[in-house]
Amino acid sequence: MPDRLPCIVPFCRRTVPADRTPAGWEIICAAHWRAVPTALKAARRRAKATVRRLAAEDEAARLRFLACPEAQVFRPDGMHPLEAARLHAVHRLVSAENRNARLWRICKRRATEAAGGIG
Ligand SMILES: [Zn+2]
Repeated sequence: MPDRLPCIVPFCRRTVPADRTPAGWEIICAAHWRAVPTALKAARRRAKATVRRLAAEDEAARLRFLACPEAQVFRPDGMHPLEAARLHAVHRLVSAENRNARLWRICKRRATEAAGGIG
C-alpha cells in the first residue's frame, strides 16, 4: 500500500499522507478543489452532514430493534413498528449515501474538467 494518496485529477502530482484518510477514499487536492463551484461544494457538504446524521439515526433504530425481542419475531400480519422504523432508517441512510456519492462524482468531474487551466 502506498504511503501517499494521489489527487484524483489525472496528471496532478499532489498527494496527501495515506494514513490521514480512511481506506478506499479519494481526494481532490486543494488547488483542484478550488475549481469546483462553491454551490456544488456546499451541496456536497450538506449531503455529508445528512449522511452522518442519518447514520446515527440508523444506529439508534437498529439498537432499539435489537433491544426488543418481540420486534424480532416474524409476524405474518405485518411488521413490528420497531422493525418498520429500522427499515425506514436504513432506506433513508442509503438514499443519502447515494446522493452524497453522486455529488462526489460531479465534484470529481468538475475538478478534472477545470484541470486544463490549472495544470
Ligand atoms: Zn490535484
